[in-house]
Amino acid sequence: MRYLITGAAGFIGSHLTLKLLSGGHEVIALDLSFSDEFRQDLAHFSSVSLVSGSVLDQSLLSKLVDTSDYVIHLAAIASPAYYVKEPKRTIDINLNASIAIIELLRFSRKPLFYTSTSEVFGKNPNVPWSEDDDRVLGPTNINRWCYSTSKAMIEHYMYACYQEGSLDFSGVRIFNCYGPRLQGRVVDSFIDSVISQKQIVVHGDGSQTRCFTYIDDLIRAIYFLVTKEKPVNKFYNIGSDVETSMNNLAEMVCLISGQDPSSSIVYVPHSEAIGASYEDIPRRVPCYSAALADLGWKPEVCLKNGLQQMYDYTLLRRSGVKSRPQKFNEIDE
Ligand code: UDP
Repeated sequence: MRYLITGAAGFIGSHLTLKLLSGGHEVIALDLSFSDEFRQDLAHFSSVSLVSGSVLDQSLLSKLVDTSDYVIHLAAIASPAYYVKEPKRTIDINLNASIAIIELLRFSRKPLFYTSTSEVFGKNPNVPWSEDDDRVLGPTNINRWCYSTSKAMIEHYMYACYQEGSLDFSGVRIFNCYGPRLQGRVVDSFIDSVISQKQIVVHGDGSQTRCFTYIDDLIRAIYFLVTKEKPVNKFYNIGSDVETSMNNLAEMVCLISGQDPSSSIVYVPHSEAIGASYEDIPRRVPCYSAALADLGWKPEVCLKNGLQQMYDYTLLRRSGVKSRPQKFNEIDE
């Protein structure tokens, strides 16, 4: 099977590319650019082609879709700080480019895999959320919600195309995935702070919670879905259901790095840290019973172990060692 992966050099894309190649598949990896580290990781594989380009480039996409058997569309803007500042670009990439890719695939009988997000549930207070729970969002003049709305619109479009018989797909809604090479989210922010001997900046009072899902657990679910004989034509919640407050997360990261939490954490209001066009989500918790029943999937890596892996990896990379640590490779397989 020859997979086209958009956003292949990103956080999830880089892990998935390696996993598919290790499983003997062929990958066309599309991204804006490729780091030396990623190129080194791929050096052992001959069945990968790297293509530098944008998902907004229609003619490039058209050629790549033609030469692939299955499209895995990961390219997206997913960092709240970024999508609050750049809502137009966020909508262009997350909505318009995705619609264009679906249009290329319609009636081709080539399946699409799409990564949606827990953000589609917005701030629904009734956690945990199963796949068909309500979406509760804020107003359209608050930029935060443009990400949720773009991703949800693509879900609607994929369901609509499936219903008219023009598209087959599989998809997941990701709940705060973290691990080596993550950028622009709370876990890498905290780990970067302790490694750089800076104070951890907690937004608000730190009581807001997330359920953190280790990258290997997510990759296991995606790999299962994209190598299945038939697409499932629905979205699954993929996320740990262990709730952690940002205060607890900050303390755990301090403990891993040997720093004293009482002097290493500062608190900054959200408006100051991210800007006025932001609204936080107090709790975000999945119910993953559908994934367990249908795919046999459940999270396996606890937060303490996942944070340790990510911390060790980041530390090693900062010290100039380019290759991935053996410990991490073992978990990745
Ligand atoms: N956050 C924080 N410090 C940071 C980055 C994020 O306290 O340096 C908070 C953020 O305000 C939110 C939570 O951590 O309450 C999770 O943020 P993230 O950026 O990972 O994305 P989200 O889960 O909100 O999509």
